[in-house]
Amino acid sequence: MDYAATILSKLPGANRRDHGVRRLVETLQSYLSEEQLAEITAAYEFGANAHSGQTRKTGEAYITHPVAVAQELAEMHLDAQAITAAILHDTVEDTSASLDDIAEQFGSEVALLVDGVSKLDQIQFRSHAEAQAESFRKMMLAMIEDIRVILVKLADRLHNMQTLGAMPAHKKKRIARETLDIYAPIANRLGINRMKVQLEDLGFKHLYPFRYRVLESALKKSKGSQRQIVRKISEEFSSALKDEGIAAEIIGRQKHLYSIYKKMAEKKRLLSDVVDVYGFRIVAEDVNACYQTLGIVHSLYKPMPGRFKDYIAIPRINGYQSLHTTLFGPKGLPLEVQIRTREMDRLAESGVASHWIYKADDKSDGSPQRRTREWLANLEEMQQSGTSEEFLESVKVDLFPDKIYVFTPKGDIMPLPKGATTVDFAYAVHTDIGDRCVAAKVNRGLVPLRTELQNSQTVEIITAKGAKPNPNWLTFVRTAKARTAIRQHMKNLRSSESVDLGKRLLDRSLKGLGSSLRKVGKVRMAEALKELGLGDDTALFEQVGLGERLPPLTARFLVGVGEDDTDTENSANLVIAGTEGMVISYAKCCFPIPGDDVMGYLTAGRGIVIHRNQCGNLSNFRKQPEKWISVTWEKDIDLDFACQIQTDTRNKPGVLAEVAATIADCGSNIEQVEVLGRHEDCSVLSFLLQVKSRVHLARIMRSVRNMKNVIRVTRECA
Ligand code: MN
Repeated sequence: MDYAATILSKLPGANRRDHGVRRLVETLQSYLSEEQLAEITAAYEFGANAHSGQTRKTGEAYITHPVAVAQELAEMHLDAQAITAAILHDTVEDTSASLDDIAEQFGSEVALLVDGVSKLDQIQFRSHAEAQAESFRKMMLAMIEDIRVILVKLADRLHNMQTLGAMPAHKKKRIARETLDIYAPIANRLGINRMKVQLEDLGFKHLYPFRYRVLESALKKSKGSQRQIVRKISEEFSSALKDEGIAAEIIGRQKHLYSIYKKMAEKKRLLSDVVDVYGFRIVAEDVNACYQTLGIVHSLYKPMPGRFKDYIAIPRINGYQSLHTTLFGPKGLPLEVQIRTREMDRLAESGVASHWIYKADDKSDGSPQRRTREWLANLEEMQQSGTSEEFLESVKVDLFPDKIYVFTPKGDIMPLPKGATTVDFAYAVHTDIGDRCVAAKVNRGLVPLRTELQNSQTVEIITAKGAKPNPNWLTFVRTAKARTAIRQHMKNLRSSESVDLGKRLLDRSLKGLGSSLRKVGKVRMAEALKELGLGDDTALFEQVGLGERLPPLTARFLVGVGEDDTDTENSANLVIAGTEGMVISYAKCCFPIPGDDVMGYLTAGRGIVIHRNQCGNLSNFRKQPEKWISVTWEKDIDLDFACQIQTDTRNKPGVLAEVAATIADCGSNIEQVEVLGRHEDCSVLSFLLQVKSRVHLARIMRSVRNMKNVIRVTRECA
């Protein structure tokens, strides 16, 4: 069936030009099933419609680009999902199509691939330092959960490089540089030779157009004679093989321009030294034929001693298999010969991608991650035959990293362990920054300090003079550096500062009771110290300063007020971890309760006011990020908290009493009831309740919601 013709006939008139579809379909037909072709056809229609009216800088219809990307992958025989994703890769970013549309029509796996490619497009490479480029490559790989994402991305970049001519010069240079710094090394790392070579040559061409041209023409000159030699030797090989009845393809290998340029630049070699090596690749039917071929070429030209390598019997660690030998050619010219089967040739060219090469009999349906892991496990087995290469280790680290990579505001990349928080980041930048950090911004938005960072976020730390590390940070930091620094700070605090702090806090609490340290006097203090089993008042102050003893309670004890009538307001110190010694109150706008995500706002008079993260009033305070501190609830709090809920009830007699009774049944006290609105058949009531936690509140709300005359229950948040 002529799919290309079918596809083209389905499209509206304006789109009826080929756009490379015919070639793509022909390539796909050589290895995919009819069903798979039908799906790809549908993707093409979807993409062509979505991109209709858009053009490339070259003036061509936009759809030519995704089709070319798909073509590149089709030539590597990638599976149908990867091809589908390639055709759709720009639709989410550049058209009104949504991921949901794609998921619905082409399945969630294709949608995930498209999403992955779009996400990679959003991160920007900002500086060119060598180390930075390395980190950036790793960051890109770390972001990828399915290796096919990077294959689509590489093919995308390759086509963009092929059509780069239409771009303004400065853009060309930037993109070329990025290609050489980031994309070509990734292709190399993943063993995708065919892409690496093209990316490097195109990058070289656009970054150093003059050097490229000089080298190109020099090479052309030397090639005239070179080509003749190559042809002559190829013919010799070919007829010798035919005589022995071996069917094989002989390819005269060309070194690519960039590798020649690099060799000349790095090793300070002359062009003639670099290019006067002749390379041949012989692709044979099977392994037996490979060894027979080896014998035949060795009988034509003498092999150079020590240069023969059998990577078929002992594959390289990246799975590469081939026979390598170097021969003394005519006039003593060295001839490098590689001999391998078609399958081995494909692996050599496609690397990691070969894992997704479509096989009709492939029954494995594991997740992409699992399949990649399996692939790596295979490599590991091969490794036992004992060649030493870094490839496996580096690929493993890149594909399954235990690191994330985030940006500083200046665009530097900072590697951190997975699960690291903004505080870890602050300490990673500098111990001083960590010690004085009070707030953090991620992608320019304020977040709690305990926030876990994700790949490629930009993180900014806000510091304040005189700010101190909070012992509570120890509950969430991940890096040893942060932990050590915080502990160190706590240790130092133990001495003098905590005594001073304790003394001040205690005196303040005493003043709240109409007393003071002076008024308590030496006699009562000595008595109290004896009761507490402490040697002197310094020890008491230190305990208060370290939060081991609560100032309000200690003050009461000192002035002789019973400890039984402790009110919740003062015990509040207990419930926000790490704020020992500070006055805590709860915002009356959002009524935070244990379990809520909260932030603390430092006020002049009222100490720390706790707000819920989604409190509407927060935006007013965002202008003063330095006043925000990260707070978290202590575990196992057994106190009552004020909390507001709102109900819509039907206007039936006794409804209010029923709701009140239900709330009381759930073990909560109602502090206040307000009628917010009364409509024809419905009333809106607001209750101020005492609850223990979110779980408790949820239970109350569930019970109220289940009542016959209740229409709606919500938790209010101003
Ligand atoms: Mn694209």
